[in-house]
Amino acid sequence: MHPIMLPVDFIDSMRQQMGVEAELLLRALQTDPVTSIRLNSKLDVLTFDCDTDEVPWHVDGYYLSERPQFTLDPLFHAGCYYVQEASSMFIQQVLEQYLDPSSVVLDLCAAPGGKSTLISEYLGRDGLLLSNEVVRQRVFILSENIQKWGNGNTVVTHNTPAEYGELCTNLFDCILVDAPCSGEGMFRKDEQARNEWSLAAVRKCAERQRAILMDVWDALKPGGLLIYSTCTFNAEENEKNVEWMAESLGADIMPVDYDRSWGIVEGSVGYHFYPHRAKGEGFYVCALRKHDEFFKPFQPKAAKNKKSNSQQSMANPQYTEIMRSWLQHPDDWALRYTDRFATAYPLRYKELIDALADCLTCISTGFGLGEERGKTIAPQHSLSMAKDLRKEAFPNVPLTLEQARSYLRTEALNLTNVPLGLLLLTYEGVPLGFAKNVGNRQNNLYPNEWRIRKL
Ligand code: SAM
Repeated sequence: MHPIMLPVDFIDSMRQQMGVEAELLLRALQTDPVTSIRLNSKLDVLTFDCDTDEVPWHVDGYYLSERPQFTLDPLFHAGCYYVQEASSMFIQQVLEQYLDPSSVVLDLCAAPGGKSTLISEYLGRDGLLLSNEVVRQRVFILSENIQKWGNGNTVVTHNTPAEYGELCTNLFDCILVDAPCSGEGMFRKDEQARNEWSLAAVRKCAERQRAILMDVWDALKPGGLLIYSTCTFNAEENEKNVEWMAESLGADIMPVDYDRSWGIVEGSVGYHFYPHRAKGEGFYVCALRKHDEFFKPFQPKAAKNKKSNSQQSMANPQYTEIMRSWLQHPDDWALRYTDRFATAYPLRYKELIDALADCLTCISTGFGLGEERGKTIAPQHSLSMAKDLRKEAFPNVPLTLEQARSYLRTEALNLTNVPLGLLLLTYEGVPLGFAKNVGNRQNNLYPNEWRIRKL
């Protein structure tokens, strides 16, 4: 790796903040970044052609000794793992120590979805995650990653922090604010972060972070948990904001247990991951508990000028029976019909999700189940990604690596000796998506918008 140019003011400010230890940090920023992944429960074993090592603070986290070309791996596209920075997997420890899995959680700044997929996995069948992204261009990749992860316990939304504060007052047991920041912790892998950094940018980020926290604060239940994180080192965006939150918004700072061998550094408040101490990129996290003197239960409010989303438009009982037969646990899911499309979402949160659909901008809810096509019902692609898919409901066709790649490029398929009708295509036993054998050819049903070009 070439030596990277670090901003002079950054070097000075780290020397001021950390004293002699800054030299160790600056040296570590000149070394190669670490590659790590978090395994989905869809897959039992790792199959990489390189050495792997466990991430100590997350049971599903692995360091890879090399960075493979993930895009060439069909299992990557099937959501079998998420390429996630190791330090940020520490969120798991905070959840385990403070959050019951049967909780309603908001991940406010969620795209592209690393922490949302982690939270979704932690909540499993018991909890509900609202995964939000305010930047329009980033919300679709978030929704795609959530669908590929496949838990069905997540609603992806596109709202501002202030809309959440206003429309979801006192709703959430936990809110994660993984704030947009100056990105010092990403310097060794992100040239743009280095180029855009300045002392003024740090100040601006810190202000914006406080505005985000203030705007969303009312959405957190009294007594609820706020997890604040950034991928930057400076105290202005980290400790100072946490202290401001505790004092001005009213919260207690909570200790998080960790193993001393992990190399975590405690700040005056919160926890730092520095690349010269812990194996990963730079990260900061702090947990706070909101004071609970003013409890008023959540009451759904309808947003002005918004059409009801929870309305049902298609409800052919025959189709419902067919779609239920595609699921392992059909009784766990509520079905919603919008135009030709049916969506499955957790039955235990039906009332809440229906109320939220009327006030928030929901991009995806649970997983797409079926689509009315002429006089039949066809499965939607996101069903093939869902962990509750009953695989035996469709003839399974195992693909070779080359066939799998060609399917993901949405090319024509040349499968021989396969039955007529819908087929569930798999790679190493994991579903990749559907195709339809119409006799003289098989139609590739991989979604065009997810098509992998460089494969
Ligand atoms: N949590 C994500 C993950 O683990 O994959 C990474 C989130 S990234 C650090 C911060 C996110 O905040 C970005 O997706 C960005 O678009 C979003 N963002 C930017 N400005 C924002 C604002 N004013 N309010 C809320 N989110 C904002």
